[in-house]
Amino acid sequence: MDPMAPNDPVAPDKSAGSGRLFVVSAPSGAGKSTLCQAARKQLPDLVYSVSSTTRPPRSGEQDGRDYFFVSREDFQKGIDKGLWVEWAQVHDNYYGTSARFIDGHLAAGRDVLMDIDVQGARQILERYPQTITIFIMVPSMAALRQRLTARGQDDMDVIEKRLRNAKAEIAQKERYRYVVVNDDLPAAIDRFVRILKGEAD
Ligand code: 5GP
Repeated sequence: MDPMAPNDPVAPDKSAGSGRLFVVSAPSGAGKSTLCQAARKQLPDLVYSVSSTTRPPRSGEQDGRDYFFVSREDFQKGIDKGLWVEWAQVHDNYYGTSARFIDGHLAAGRDVLMDIDVQGARQILERYPQTITIFIMVPSMAALRQRLTARGQDDMDVIEKRLRNAKAEIAQKERYRYVVVNDDLPAAIDRFVRILKGEAD
C-alpha cells in the first residue's frame, strides 16, 4: 500500500467546515488501543489516522489498517520531502503521520483521531493549536508492568525500555487537555467517547 496516500482522502472541499482534530497519547500498555477500538465502533464517522512506521508488524496487525509498514529508507524519503505532518522516533523505530491525510480529512469537515506519542503531540499542537489532546493513564507503574508482561508481545528488554519510556511520557501528561485513567475499562471507554463527542467537561 502507498503510505503517502493513506486511505486515499478526498480532495479538500473548500465549502466544508473544518473537522476537529483529536490526539490521544499514552504509555504503551495503558490500554490505548482497546479504547481507540471501542471508540471507533461507537463513532463510525470518526476518521482514525493510520500512521507509517518502520517497526515490524506484530502478529495480527495489517498493513494499511493498523499502520503502513515502511522501510527506514522510505521513511527518510518522507522526511526529506516534508510528507509527515509530525514524526518521531519511539522505542528505536520511526513513526509519522501523513500531512495530506490529516489536512484532507479536516478540510472535508471530518473529525480525525490521531494515536501518537508525546513528541508527536507537541508538534501537532504547534501546527494545529485547536487540537483536543487526551492522555490515557495507567492506575500505577506496577499495573503497567503487569499489563506489558501479561500481553506477551514483547521481550523483557523491550518491556524494560517501554517502562522507562512510560515514566518520561507520564511526566508530560499535564500538557494534555484531558486525562483518562484506565482503571475500570467500561468507565474509561465511556469518558473517552464523551470527550470525542464533545460532551465531557
Ligand atoms: P506501537 O509500536 O506500540 O504501536 O506504538 C508505539 C508508540 O508510537 C505509541 O505511543 C504510539 O502512540 C506512537 N505512534 C504511533 N504512530 C505514531 C505517529 O504517527 N507519530 C508519533 N509521533 N507517534 C506514533
